[in-house]
Amino acid sequence: MKTVDIIVPCYNEAEGLDLFYQETEKVVSRIDGYEFSYIFINDGSRDASLSVMRRLAQEHPRVHYISFSRNFGKEAGMYAGLRHSSGDYVIIMDADLQHPPALIPQFTAAIEEGHECAAACRLNRSGEKGLRSFLSGLFYKFSNSMTDVTLPQNAVDFRMMSRKMVDAICSLSEVERFSKGIFAWVGFDTKWIPYENVERAVGSSKWSFKGLVKYAIDGITAFTVKPLHMIRNMGILLFVVSLIYILVVLIKTLIRGVDVPGYASIVCLLLFLGGIIEFSIGIVGEYVSHIYLEAKDRPVYIIQETDLTEGKEHE
Ligand code: UDP
Ligand code: MG
Repeated sequence: MKTVDIIVPCYNEAEGLDLFYQETEKVVSRIDGYEFSYIFINDGSRDASLSVMRRLAQEHPRVHYISFSRNFGKEAGMYAGLRHSSGDYVIIMDADLQHPPALIPQFTAAIEEGHECAAACRLNRSGEKGLRSFLSGLFYKFSNSMTDVTLPQNAVDFRMMSRKMVDAICSLSEVERFSKGIFAWVGFDTKWIPYENVERAVGSSKWSFKGLVKYAIDGITAFTVKPLHMIRNMGILLFVVSLIYILVVLIKTLIRGVDVPGYASIVCLLLFLGGIIEFSIGIVGEYVSHIYLEAKDRPVYIIQETDLTEGKEHE
């Protein structure tokens, strides 16, 4: 019997949790050779999620929960789940049934075929606003051209991974976690399983537009230092161009005397250089902020309550 931990990060999912458990259990109870457990992570929900989890854990011996002291974000939730998992395999899935449990038999089949990981990817983005899906396409193109890891577009955080891969993911101890990139970065042979996007069962998406923009910037800066190299190259180019321009101005002044009307060129140069400097400082600042956060080395999450035995955590 192989053991599988299903990790479910939850933020204000109280109304959907029972349905989630029933639907998932319906599927996994029919899979032979695997024993499934659940680890629900209550990410500082403001609704009754925690009490629903407590009840589920009481009713079902293979349901466990971890409750954070506040909202730490889905990344922290997934990380906590992975670190507390002990199964031979781990499945990560959303609580809103947007990750169809019906895919799980395909995951286990892929694992049986010898893959270290099986991951879901969306065939379409129905239920998502046009602008959002356009911008997300742009992000993947940009990010993949900038970074060394290739983020598969349409990949979602719904996957089954072997213990080996989970341990590899946990060994990346960065505080600011960008799982999509981390999954790609650790490697391992992955089978992609396409599925039709489904709308949320209940509740609403927890992502704000601002949150998504931050996620995109963090994703790129966490996996590449190319923007820093770009600034360096831009600096070199500007330096060479200005040297040439200085020579031109010097020679012109020597030959034709002082040229007083020069307002337009000065203003243009000032604005241009000012803009580039600001932009560059911004990019450097982005990296400095990452260094700052990593240097503080604060925990990714703080557990307030759990029914899991302490000390089970993986390093
Ligand atoms: N989630 C979380 N912490 C957060 C935001 C979301 O644990 O701060 C969980 C949420 O409960 C859900 C999953 O992450 O199980 C995906 O969130 P959501 O459905 O809002 O995102 P979307 O499906 O729109 O990408
Ligand atoms: Mg969702």
